[in-house]
Amino acid sequence: MKPSTVKINKMPSRFKHQVPKYKVTRSDACINCGTCAKTCPYGVHERSEGHNKVKPPIDYKCIGFECQSKDFCCITKCPRKALSLSLNPMYNTLGDPRWTADMITGTWIMAETGYPPERTDLDYNVGNSGGGFDKLRFKFPAKPAKVDKAEISTAIPLNRRKDGRADVVISTPVYGGGMSFGSVSLSTMVSKAHNATIWNTFTCTGEGGFPDILKPYCDHVITQVATGLFGVREETIQRVKIVELKYAQGAKPGLGGHLLGEKNTEAVAKMREAVKGTSLFSPFPFHSVYSIEDHKKHIDWIKAVNPTALLSVKVSTPNDVDMVAVGSYYAGAHIIHIDGGYGGTGAAPDIAKKNIAMPIEYAITKVHNFLKAEGVRDAITLIASGGIRTAHDLAKAICLGANGAVIGTAELVALECVRCGNCESGRGCSRGIATTDSVLADLFDEKWATQRLTNMYNAWNVQLVDILQKFGMHDVSELVGRTDLLEHIDYSH
Ligand code: SF4
Ligand code: SF4
Ligand code: SF4
Repeated sequence: MKPSTVKINKMPSRFKHQVPKYKVTRSDACINCGTCAKTCPYGVHERSEGHNKVKPPIDYKCIGFECQSKDFCCITKCPRKALSLSLNPMYNTLGDPRWTADMITGTWIMAETGYPPERTDLDYNVGNSGGGFDKLRFKFPAKPAKVDKAEISTAIPLNRRKDGRADVVISTPVYGGGMSFGSVSLSTMVSKAHNATIWNTFTCTGEGGFPDILKPYCDHVITQVATGLFGVREETIQRVKIVELKYAQGAKPGLGGHLLGEKNTEAVAKMREAVKGTSLFSPFPFHSVYSIEDHKKHIDWIKAVNPTALLSVKVSTPNDVDMVAVGSYYAGAHIIHIDGGYGGTGAAPDIAKKNIAMPIEYAITKVHNFLKAEGVRDAITLIASGGIRTAHDLAKAICLGANGAVIGTAELVALECVRCGNCESGRGCSRGIATTDSVLADLFDEKWATQRLTNMYNAWNVQLVDILQKFGMHDVSELVGRTDLLEHIDYSH
């Protein structure tokens, strides 16, 4: 059941025109009769009554050619045949094979409305990467057991060790990944934390410290301790329910972190106890950890500083990630967070992003099976990240063996990221998301961003509940490790 704090309100784009899939063209034959404004239920046509004139079409809202079979289609209703519809040739410049234009548009619609798109022309659940989640499909039974959607639970516990530490349960099996102050704006961080509070889940500070503005949300913020130890203080470890030790990122294992000097503003430098304008590097690895025994000492250190917090260990996905996971269990971790090779960061070199870490789809099953063989699978929470773009990816990751997932890029797309990849260049993101430039960071406010994230989380939850119902399941835990419910489209019959 979703928390009572979740309220869905429409939160439209902050731009008058997004990149549309279709172009709605109005010719000079138009007589401004206003019929199209009255008939289109999607608000593509607007007419200012005072001026008796139709405005240019807002074509990103148009549902396209499928409309031509509907009674209300403006193309057929226009008395002067002044309207025409065509595919926008620019549309496919949006996104890339992993994050397709349809997937970005679908996420924008979810963030605006709070529900999955009703349009059938958007293939927003899978991308065109040619592998991984994009090749997997669910095998729904023809006659599932009847389950009322209201009875389906998507909540998961994070502390499975039963060691007397906090019993943390999140209402949806997904939370926000670490994005540091320095890499993203404060509005982005606060909206992620506010949404995590509304959804009774978590977000993570990333490695740039814990800005005071996040204090009201600290029950839903994970403090990250990474190799640079930027902004790490005893009080930031003591104020939270979960502390994450970050050993590596899936996009660039073995390479540490890098914040370009342009983004290191006075406020960022103060938080990180560094010098303004200098590039900041996090080393690889922790220079105090070279063995599993050192790792245990690290965990013991955090446990001593905060006697109730859960410990999450974030690692990338090298070949021996299964052994790392088992080692982390014996070292005392509650959560093993594995970050696959698609883990997003604008700062990672392409050669690292594409060639080092294992794709998350392989790593999940490898870790799940190894933990099972060791007899400790039920005593640790397995969280996957690095390539979870949609609710379908989330459900597939759970089928492969994860308990839940962490997302990053999907949250940024909800805030109207266009996947341009310029997060780390110059002053940062021209859309105000991944920037610390004060002018750019003011391009949206926290209220708008929080509602967009809450809406997207709701749409994902609606889809997840729908998938569970189609399998006749009452609880998301029934889906864990059910690889038999997936098929690979290259080998299916
Ligand atoms: S229905 Fe046709 S003629 Fe009337 S305002 Fe729209 S485009 Fe113009
Ligand atoms: S084709 Fe349909 S959705 Fe598109 S503008 Fe016309 S009425 Fe609206
Ligand atoms: S610069 Fe902004 S819009 Fe471009 S990929 Fe980064 S967050 Fe997205």
